[in-house]
Amino acid sequence: DDGEQLQVTTRLGVYMQDLESTVTYLLRQEVAIHRNMNEDSVTALKTFLLVLAKYFPGREEVKGYLWRIHTWLGTVNEELSGQNWLRKIESFQTQETYLPDRIKWIGCAGSKPEFRGYPCGLWTLFHTLTVNAYRIEKSSEKFNPRSVLDAIAGYIKHFFGCSDCTQHFLKMAKNIDNEVKYLNESVLWLWRSHNLANERLKTDFSTDPHHPKVQFPSEEMCKQCHSVPAADQKLDWNIPVVFNFLIDFFSKDKIISIEDD
Ligand code: FAD
Repeated sequence: DDGEQLQVTTRLGVYMQDLESTVTYLLRQEVAIHRNMNEDSVTALKTFLLVLAKYFPGREEVKGYLWRIHTWLGTVNEELSGQNWLRKIESFQTQETYLPDRIKWIGCAGSKPEFRGYPCGLWTLFHTLTVNAYRIEKSSEKFNPRSVLDAIAGYIKHFFGCSDCTQHFLKMAKNIDNEVKYLNESVLWLWRSHNLANERLKTDFSTDPHHPKVQFPSEEMCKQCHSVPAADQKLDWNIPVVFNFLIDFFSKDKIISIEDD
């Protein structure tokens, strides 16, 4: 129905429903389907859960739940089966529902079920993590500016179900040590890498025709982010403006909460 599609295409912004659906899918499906996680995978999971618990910009109940999982993971010193993982994380749910039982997409809704959804939610989650970490840690001198990106890369390497995506992402991530020296650069690194993926995928069959892949943010979203040099008409960015845009767009107080929607 056209009305429905129009609504889907005009949903801009970051929705808590998408972030929580992503975390639910990640914990209960993507990690849980592993028959056996070896020590390296368990280590990557611990590292990612720590970043998630610290910087997930969500409800206190959800953060508490993530901390409980992280604390328990600290006691796991060997291999872990997906079955045991799932049993354990379900036991940490109490009477209050910490995460949605049903996965539902709002900002990440596709025009058909096979489009968007989880991969869109995962990018969104990763951007909110780098931005929230920047906001929280920008004055702490000892904070490793690469720690959030390293945790994300570790998660992707060991758990992300899309193997093509993993290959592409890890290729870009090889240069993180050289490219990210300060915390603001971790926000920009992820933005730049995501745009490289957008560029590569703009004619791919997996792209939702109702959500064409464009360089983000588009001119409509942020005109000042774009600077077009007079000599050649190649798209260029005004990086300080882009940075401020990202910090604002993915910030905790801009997230559209479940009750608001
Ligand atoms: P997405 O690209 O998923 O973006 C989600 C939202 O993020 C957008 O709606 C927009 O609001 C925002 N956004 C867009 N660009 C940026 C940016 N540069 N910076 C900040 N925010 C932005 N698919 C493949 O076919 N091949 C791959 O190699 C591949 N690699 C991937 C690697 C990772 C790490 C992930 C998470 C996904 C990957 N995917 C890949 C999936 C693909 O990138 C999209 O997620 C998927 O096609 C859905 O696209 P989408 O239109 O929902 O927008």
